[in-house]
Amino acid sequence: MMGNYRPFTAISYQTTLGNETGSWRTQRPVYQERISPCRCACPAKTDIPKWLNLVKENEFKKAWEVLIETNPLPLVCGKVCPHPCEASCNRGQFDEALSIIALERFLGEEALKNNWHPQKIGSPTGAKIAVIGSGPAGLSCAYQLARRGYRVTIFEALPVIGGMLRVGIPNYRLPKDILEQEITNNILSPFEIEVKTNTPVNKEIFQKIKKEFQSIFVGVGAHQSERLDIPGEEGKGVLSGLDFLRKINLGQKAEIGKKVAVIGGGNAAIDAARSARRQGAEVFLIYRRIKEDMPAFKEEIEEAEKEGVRFYFLLRPSKILLENGNIKGIECQKGEVKGKDDKGRSQVFFPEGSPRLEIEVDNVITAIGEEPDLSFVDEEIGSLFIGGDARDLAGTVSAAIGSGREASKQIHFYLTGQRITEEISESNMIQFEELNLDYFEYQSRQTQIFGSQSAIKEAGRCFSCGNCNICGICWSFCPDIAIRKKEDKYEIDYDYCKGCGICAHECPTKSIVLIKEQ
Ligand code: FAD
Repeated sequence: MMGNYRPFTAISYQTTLGNETGSWRTQRPVYQERISPCRCACPAKTDIPKWLNLVKENEFKKAWEVLIETNPLPLVCGKVCPHPCEASCNRGQFDEALSIIALERFLGEEALKNNWHPQKIGSPTGAKIAVIGSGPAGLSCAYQLARRGYRVTIFEALPVIGGMLRVGIPNYRLPKDILEQEITNNILSPFEIEVKTNTPVNKEIFQKIKKEFQSIFVGVGAHQSERLDIPGEEGKGVLSGLDFLRKINLGQKAEIGKKVAVIGGGNAAIDAARSARRQGAEVFLIYRRIKEDMPAFKEEIEEAEKEGVRFYFLLRPSKILLENGNIKGIECQKGEVKGKDDKGRSQVFFPEGSPRLEIEVDNVITAIGEEPDLSFVDEEIGSLFIGGDARDLAGTVSAAIGSGREASKQIHFYLTGQRITEEISESNMIQFEELNLDYFEYQSRQTQIFGSQSAIKEAGRCFSCGNCNICGICWSFCPDIAIRKKEDKYEIDYDYCKGCGICAHECPTKSIVLIKEQ
């Protein structure tokens, strides 16, 4: 062996800081914020990795504050959102997607339990804004503007607020006490928003609103049910799905017979079918296309099947059979699939003379589509903004929330000339292949969150795609000790960084990139 041989080691007894090795660099690492697929997919554009990271750090209140920046109804969304964020989660390609919706529900519950309230982000402006319709679009717009200091008044036709959340979605899916609590806690009470219920805005009221308010948001949803346009539709016992659900949700009598046909394939049809089933009726759901084409959420279709709703596909109602004005059955025509339409759904034909089928029923509930009623809006004025289902029929709560927020930004710009900008584009989205997976272990997903520890554990599974989560790997690997720890971030000291690129290579979340030195 080498005996007592010791290699020479250069040790400086003085500071080496004067030795600025960064001048050798041909490329430099920079921290970047890219967009995660979950945020891209979220119609409310919630900064999901940011609040998940705070949950992981046991900072639940801060996490909730990030969440409600964009979505004032996290508990509601935690119950009814179809969670496109989870479908696009990069972790889904590794083991299983994060349980984002369960964590969102958890934070929403924590907020109510601990009486957390959102804070104002602007001082009073004096400008008055009218919001017509108190669905998620109207509430979201009102919330965003009120916290910026605007004086907001909501006009609502019904005696209750919440739109479809209150009168469409059944109580067994979205308990009304939770809905009311969240609306009051997060939107109405912190910002003194005035609410005028039982005020259906017509042309006359609209004219008054135009004079009194500097800007108007119209979020009246789509409440006019489309007609079947078949003989017998005037019969006693034909009702629209929305009327049926509204009655149940308002605690009014919604009497139905023993056998009920529900026509349609969307959420309103499934909710009406399940609600009728819960009233003890035998329920036949009739849909003109095939199961895979149903626009209703998959989980809801499965629940309806479990509860005993009977599905009939490729059938189109052709006549409602009446006896002395009362329904005794429905006649349907059989269709045939011939290819796909431009939306990828089955194209169905109902040839002359195709077989007909009669089903004995006491009621027919129609839920084939809804249209907005904007007849009171007399002209397009600069200060008027339309959002939610009334605008694009996107048909989800989170889309309505996103659309209300978007309109609030436009109203703010209209009134002040100041833009509220956000860069959330798919072109800047992190792909699964870009992540460094060496730092992640397989872990199974928890679909239910049982308390803080379980929330922290599940949030800890987040890849934090494109968002530095201060994991410290760059800091540990930097051979030049050129990465400095700041309070809530890392910074690169370019006087000492030689541009070796190890930090960018190792970064698990793709939050560091190398750019050419100028
Ligand atoms: P709405 O929620 O429809 O609210 C509009 C409000 O405007 C209503 O309160 C209405 O009374 C009021 N209004 C209308 N006209 C006037 C007027 N002239 N003057 C004053 N007020 C007026 N989405 C999901 O994400 N998850 C679900 O599980 C889900 N389930 C659904 C179940 C059913 C039965 C239905 C019908 C829809 C469901 N949706 C679901 C879709 C979702 O509820 C809607 O996309 C969303 O509520 C649209 O929000 P909005 O604010 O645009 O309109």
